[in-house]
Amino acid sequence: MIRLIQIDPSDNVAIVTENAAKGMDLEGIVLLQDIPQGHKVALKNLQKGDEVIRYGVTLGYLLEDIEVGSWINETMLALPDLPSLDSLTYAQGEAVVLPKPSITTFEGFDNGPDLYAGTRNLLAITTTVQCVSGVVNQLVGRIRSTLLPKYPNVDEVVAINHAYGCGVAINAPDAVIPIRSIRNIMRNPNFGGEIMVVGLGCEKLTVDKLLPPEEINAENVLMLQDYQGYAAMMEALLKMAETKLEALNRRKRTTLPLSKLCIGMQCGGSDAFSGITANPSAGYASDLLVSGGATVMFSEVTEVRDGVHLLAYRCVDKEARDKLVAEIGWYDAYLAKGEVDRSANPTPGNKKGGLSNIVEKAMGSIVKSGRAPIVEVLGPGELPTKKGLIFAATPASDIVCGPSQLASGIALQVFMTGRGTPYGLAEAPVIKVCSRNAMQEQWPDLIDLNAGGIATGEESVQEVGKRLFELILDVASGKKKPYAEQLKLTNFLCFFNPAPIT
Ligand code: CA
Repeated sequence: MIRLIQIDPSDNVAIVTENAAKGMDLEGIVLLQDIPQGHKVALKNLQKGDEVIRYGVTLGYLLEDIEVGSWINETMLALPDLPSLDSLTYAQGEAVVLPKPSITTFEGFDNGPDLYAGTRNLLAITTTVQCVSGVVNQLVGRIRSTLLPKYPNVDEVVAINHAYGCGVAINAPDAVIPIRSIRNIMRNPNFGGEIMVVGLGCEKLTVDKLLPPEEINAENVLMLQDYQGYAAMMEALLKMAETKLEALNRRKRTTLPLSKLCIGMQCGGSDAFSGITANPSAGYASDLLVSGGATVMFSEVTEVRDGVHLLAYRCVDKEARDKLVAEIGWYDAYLAKGEVDRSANPTPGNKKGGLSNIVEKAMGSIVKSGRAPIVEVLGPGELPTKKGLIFAATPASDIVCGPSQLASGIALQVFMTGRGTPYGLAEAPVIKVCSRNAMQEQWPDLIDLNAGGIATGEESVQEVGKRLFELILDVASGKKKPYAEQLKLTNFLCFFNPAPIT
């Protein structure tokens, strides 16, 4: 049955839950055109210049008069002004009572006091420069076939290959972002504190930029230019890897409090359902996790920019608010340098899915953060110092957000999608949540959880959110593997590099 979904009582548009034909009467609204699934229909007559309101906020201003029952799409709206970053109030949110989780522990790989636990036990081989990646890829193949079978407690070996390291302005101010991302990803909880760095010898990203002096030694670092030929370097690399595998193999899962768990949330390939099904249920799961003591990161600066005042309200203190303003201000300048603004974010697929502009996308994106207060704001690739809900200010690009959150220490990622993407990470399991039943039917062997029942009225946000919370804990505990992990679908690590390439 086709339904209309209106989110806020003040909204003057609703979305249709299925493709709807001209002439249909939906809850008293007679459609004047065919309207595609997820797209907006006017609930009243509106004039040129009027606000179009969804989520109770102004999505934009009409460029033409329209009648009740008309389709409203991206060509009919002018963007509202960007919310100012000046004098944003903070800690103004009403005291939020979060839902209580029924489970407060998980089975993880403990990394010691003050550190988050792993959800997987992986040998990570970090590279200083792209030049070595061919050798490291061969090494990974050799480790898989000859060494891994001897170390049953180690789940996998992963190469931290990337495009950074040389041919870059290493001392440019913004170079701190890719450098700290690579430095911090080595400490990801899933890597068990075992450091293995492979460098070339003449690159700009020298090992002292990645490791403290006491960790720069032959046990942790190998430079290919120090070796006489390929066979010799491969032999040395395998020997080094074996020492690390012996240490990792001693790790066992133990029962740990949720305060040892750090996960990330992001979305990609969004549609108009993302903001009413998948993202709100992720928000509810996030509230359950935070309430139980876990740390949850959400990101994607251009997708929160239009709701920055809503995030500022939720910042617990001035420090978090000031960092939010600094990070978002930096991003505004970064976009301006490229002569674009946040309107460059939505994709053709987003628009086809009914998202008219970045304001509509942002409102649907922010709900994945639930209702918890924001305890800390991080720059891309920075490490958290607090536990709870954290805004990690990364680009929204799926393949840049993923590595940034990994560098900040997530041991699992939840990924919401409307249009579908096979996205996955080698470094941490990724749970994919879809926004519509049709997506689940199209990709039953790629989607881990379907939130589409919220749109059809079969399930509530809380019910789907609770199912997602339980799935997160099962995956974190190694009891379940999401499809992307089973199928070994992994994306390239694209570390954010806003600094010049030379
Ligand atoms: Ca994204």
